[in-house]
Formats: sequence, structure tokens, C-alpha cells
Amino acid sequence: MVDSESLFWADQLAKKIVGRENFFFAEKEIPKLKKWVVKSSSSLSGVLHIGRLSDLARGEAVYRALKEQNFPVEFVYVTEDMDPLRKIPKGVPESFEKYIGFPVSDIPDPWGCHKSYDKHHLEHFLGTISPFLSEHPKIFSMREEYQKGSFNEMVFGLMGRVNALIEILNRFRIEPLASNWIPWKPICQNCGNLQTTRAIGFDGKSVEYVCEDYKFETKTAKGCGFHGFSDLKKANGKMPWKSEWAMQWKFWNVCSEGAGKEYESRNSAFWINAEICEKLLDFPMPEPIFYEHLMVDGVKMSASLGNVVYPSDWLKVSRPETLRLLYLKKLMKTRSFSWNDIPLLELELDRLVENVKAKKGDAKEFVQSQRLLHFVEMPNCLLVGSKFDFATAIMLAQLFAKNQEAFLKLGEMGFVSSKSKEIREFVFERLNFAREFAALHLSAEQKIRLVDMSEVDFQKIDSKAKQLFFSLAARIETAKSAEDIQAIIYDEAKSNGLEPAKLFNAIYLALLNRDNGPKIGSLVFAFGKEKVCERLRQIK
Ligand SMILES: [Zn+2]
Ligand SMILES: [Zn+2]
Repeated sequence: MVDSESLFWADQLAKKIVGRENFFFAEKEIPKLKKWVVKSSSSLSGVLHIGRLSDLARGEAVYRALKEQNFPVEFVYVTEDMDPLRKIPKGVPESFEKYIGFPVSDIPDPWGCHKSYDKHHLEHFLGTISPFLSEHPKIFSMREEYQKGSFNEMVFGLMGRVNALIEILNRFRIEPLASNWIPWKPICQNCGNLQTTRAIGFDGKSVEYVCEDYKFETKTAKGCGFHGFSDLKKANGKMPWKSEWAMQWKFWNVCSEGAGKEYESRNSAFWINAEICEKLLDFPMPEPIFYEHLMVDGVKMSASLGNVVYPSDWLKVSRPETLRLLYLKKLMKTRSFSWNDIPLLELELDRLVENVKAKKGDAKEFVQSQRLLHFVEMPNCLLVGSKFDFATAIMLAQLFAKNQEAFLKLGEMGFVSSKSKEIREFVFERLNFAREFAALHLSAEQKIRLVDMSEVDFQKIDSKAKQLFFSLAARIETAKSAEDIQAIIYDEAKSNGLEPAKLFNAIYLALLNRDNGPKIGSLVFAFGKEKVCERLRQIK
């Protein structure tokens, strides 16, 4: 039996959720509900990079783990479409400056193809993320839920106990909120702006407000000067984030939700909402899925830095499973991605598939690998662990324009023994990815070609290794596979008292005029044994 410590993180979290008995902030039992929810959400502004997928991928894993423990659960994605527009994103006409401060749900579609600004982005978002998800969440909009009155009871409840709300919020504030602070933020009935309204009174039913200018970082939301009353029953407005998040949890019966690691700190919005949720809304806080954010080459992704990785860029050069692997393997480990990591991620996925197939490792390791693969794998996807690794594919794709030729070469190398349709499809797909990868992400120095004799720097080649080239060539000619060649080189060095690394090094210099490269066994086959042996004999 495998102990719970060794379970995969999503299984561990699911086990914790299933076994929960009491509230965290109050002496209360967790209710028995017919349906719980794993929630994910995001705003619809901002750049749609691969980092935006992380919350959904992790939420999906917890949702699946819960389902497998027979816990009644649904997967839900909520669009934060009440968020105000703060600046004019690239591609949006300057005339949209008049909508600064409006909820994005209430702004027209600048491209004219959807009902509104947010719906345009939502469709794009869902279309982009769906190839990476194995389970598709139910979609909800905050604006629509407010309009339906979904939060009315909770809003009245919180407005009625505003002193208790202020007491919780003030414990985490440097500048305390005034005792007459009003949480409700109306949308101006006259101009439609959200950010410009300032609440000045509450009579138990309606919030009295004025509409005035509001300064964002770079833009100003223009107030219209209107003085009006926002009837809470009509719900034309919103609660602040520190209480709205709690209302979402109660409304959807959320038992788990992801959040970046900055929310782990006890004075973050997550924990403040957790306390509001349990103490003022009488609903247990969800179990958080805290995770690290993805960095690219060690820095945060941003359009201005030009290092944004789009999901569509990923799918040009790699399988969706590799991105899932990156997100799912461990939760709290700084993750920096660089395009150079793609071959390694592909290799990691190949090894994972192989380890699970071959039941490698002790019981604990095996279960870990098996569960990780289970969550990484997409339905109907072909995952073939293979000696034909991505690095070899990159090399072959550069040397052979046609997949069929490369496929035959792989047969010669002893990498592909079966000619089954499945294997062939896998090889062709990998070659296509590798070809794109070489074209898009390899620098001139990283590209593979057999250099001219005139380019070889004889001085750099180890003199003892050079002496072995002639006899080595004779042995390489007899090799039957790429692995044979690796073994021959190793043996030739060892039996002549030379460190094998020095001989490998010398061969790279003779063929590529650099001291490293893809596995020499495959490289020799890819260039052709004859050509390579001729080169080795020429160097003295
Ligand atoms: Zn549109
Ligand atoms: Zn107004």
C-alpha cells in the first residue's frame, strides 16, 4: 500500500478536501452538499500568454482527482468581466478612451464581431486554451450573475453587517477604513461608468452616490457629475474584491481554487476573503491551490519586454502535454521557461511514458509517475515513449527535408523497429515539430551541418584522440546501430587509455567544429557512415 505522503499533489489535495470536517476560522462543521465546485477564473484584459493557462490546468487536475475519489464535483470558470478597463490595449482604437473605468462587460466589441468587448476576448481565450485542457469547465460571467440577482442576499447580508466586515478588513490595513465606509460600488445610472462612482450614503435599500473623475495609473476615467441612488435589488454595481471573492465561493459551492503564491501570505486577499466567507457568509473557505508563476528566461512575461509565449507558439513546436507537464509536475517550484527547454520537456515526457510502461522505480516512485502521467495525458493522444528523442528529431529535421527519408534513417539507426501506423504517425509528428523548432528557435551556432574540411580547427583536436581516428573509422564501418557506435567509441577510448569524453569531443570538432552536439551515434548515421569515416581518416 502506498501512504498518502507519496500521493501526487492533486490526489493529496483531493484527499484533504474529501476528509474536511470543520471550518478553519470558526467552530463549525462543513455542510454535506450535493455538489461542490473547483473554480478557476481570470480577467479578460491583458495578454493571452501561456501563463494564463496555469490556473485552469491545475484546477482541472484537482477536479479530476476529486471525481476519482467519488466526490460530487463540477469544474467552473468565472470571467471577471466586472473589472474596469484601465488603459487602452494595443489594437483598440483611441476613441475607446471614453470607456476607461467601464466594466469590460459593458464596452462594445472594438472589432464589431461580438456582443461586447469581454465576449470577444472570452471566445478568443476559450479557443486558445481548449487544446490544452482535457476537461472543459462550465463558463459563468460575473456581470450576468449580478444581474440575475445571484448575489443579492449576500450583498444585503454584508451591507447589514458592515461593521463586522470593516473590522476584518481593518486588521490588514495600514490606513483603517472609516466607520461609515460603504462597500457597494454602483455603476453610474447616467453614464455607465463603474470606477467613477463614490458612495456617500446607504438607507438600507439603496446606495447614494456621486459620479466624479477617477485617476488610473496613466488614464483618467471621466465622471459625469451625476448624483443618484443605486437600488441594491437591481444589482447594478459590484462588491469590492475583498468580499466578492468570498461571495463567489459561497454562490458556486467552491471547495478549491488556484491562486498565485503571493496569495499564500496571511494578509492576502485570499485569506481575508476566507475569513469573510466563514465568519460573515457562513460558508467554509475553499482549499487553495497555491502555485508559482511562470517566468520566461528568468523574467516575467510582458508584451513590452517582447518575451511573451503564446499558446499557439507552443503548439507549433511541441505537444500540449509538455506544457501540462511543466504546470503539473510540481506546484511550488520556481519555473522558468526558455525555448531551449522544449527538447528537455519532450524527453521528460518520453521518459515518464516509458517508466510507467516498464513499471520502473519502487512502489512510491511508480505511483507518482503513473499519477503524473494520468493527469498530463490528453484524451486520444498518442504518447509513445521512444529512443527517438526530440534532440535526434531536431538533427534529422535539419538534414532531411522529407519525413520519409528521416524515417528510413531512423530504421538504420535502430531507433524505430516497428513500421506500425501508430509509430509512423508519432515519428512524423515529432519531425514536424522539430523542423519548426529548428527554424524558429535555434541560433546559427546551434544548427547542425557537416562542416567543410577547411573549417576544421586541427589545433583544438586532442592529439591522442586524433591518433585513434584511423582505427576508429574501421570499427565504425561495421556498426549496426547508433547505439553500437556509441559503444565502439567508448571502447576505443578506454582500451587505449584515453578518457572517452576526450574522444567524443574530438569527433565533434572534426565533424561540427564545436565540442558538443547531438549523440554521435545518431549523428554518424544522419551524416552517413561513409562520409564520417572518410573525414576521420583525413585528419591526422
Ligand atoms: Zn469580436
Ligand atoms: Zn456618471
